[in-house]
Amino acid sequence: MSRIEPSTNEMLDHARALLTSGRLVAIPTETVYGLAANAWDASAVRKIFSVKNRPPNNPLIVHVASLDRVVDAVRMPLAKPIESQLAAVSDLWPGPLTVVLPRGERIPDIVTAGNQTVAVRIPSHPVTLSLLNRCPFPLAAPSANRSNYVSPTTAAHCEDGLDDTVAMILDGGPCDYGVESTIVRLHESGPRLLRPGGVAAEVLAERFGLSVDTLMEVSANRQATKQLEAPGMMSQHYSPTTAVQLLYPGTTIVVPKNTGRIAFQKLADEEVSRYTVVEVLSESGDLEQVAKRLFAALRQLDQAQLTCIHIDTCSPRGIGRAIMDRLERAAAKSSEF
Ligand code: AMP
Ligand code: MG
Repeated sequence: MSRIEPSTNEMLDHARALLTSGRLVAIPTETVYGLAANAWDASAVRKIFSVKNRPPNNPLIVHVASLDRVVDAVRMPLAKPIESQLAAVSDLWPGPLTVVLPRGERIPDIVTAGNQTVAVRIPSHPVTLSLLNRCPFPLAAPSANRSNYVSPTTAAHCEDGLDDTVAMILDGGPCDYGVESTIVRLHESGPRLLRPGGVAAEVLAERFGLSVDTLMEVSANRQATKQLEAPGMMSQHYSPTTAVQLLYPGTTIVVPKNTGRIAFQKLADEEVSRYTVVEVLSESGDLEQVAKRLFAALRQLDQAQLTCIHIDTCSPRGIGRAIMDRLERAAAKSSEF
């Protein structure tokens, strides 16, 4: 049997059996593909870190099937202010929103990197929801790629760079959002956005009755601990091997020989002719479409033996905030030279 399997009932039962016995299964979600293990089983979760080569200080997101299963990962009861913050956003579930809450006792240290908080999410992809409903335990799952590389948005991407420790890859088609979930920390001192993603910061800010600036604010003394609190925010992340240059408006662009271009909308023929290869993510410049196709295009051009990849930019609003966050991290390595 091959590792990539369509998500039939039989395959979902098989996936549950593998997870129950401590094996790893790659799962489709609406954001990106995840690499899942039983979140209550420390030795299964350890395999995720080893196959991804993920630093142990980078905690995982725990996926649950429904609101009444949040208790499988989180310490209850929640303090009143946290409970009302959760109530303000919980109808965005199932969906691309992760909340950081006090950690429940069944979640081992390895999942949270020793933190007393745990990141939880209810994904909306029907295949993974159906798998979660079959499992008596929650699933810890980071993205199914080698640490620091571009996240996978198809089942085939999950094969690259991961070994046979991954027992099965469930194919649920290409991911709808194509960027990771938004992460928000709920706390008695107020909610804080830790990572922009599929749910716009503007939507969350409105739910909490805060300005976007307040939701994103990091006070001076929190800044020092932020690295540990949300290691997904490390400046160099999501990086292809090929150098990346972002095309901010108003900058003069020199196109070196053998450069590829990722464009957010249709380009003029003259512009196309300056590049070795061009990927247009959306004919009309629709940013949801751009987000959905961005990681696949990065992977594709990264395999094209180019000297450099030029990528369009957009204003950091709505889904554009997550797109620019990922692109700036993808370009961080290149700008160090
Ligand atoms: P990934 O699923 O690969 O995008 O990584 C999950 C991300 O979730 C991590 O990089 C962290 O930024 C974030 N995360 C997971 N657990 C916590 C936590 N307890 N507190 C804050 N952030 C977390
Ligand atoms: Mg990741």
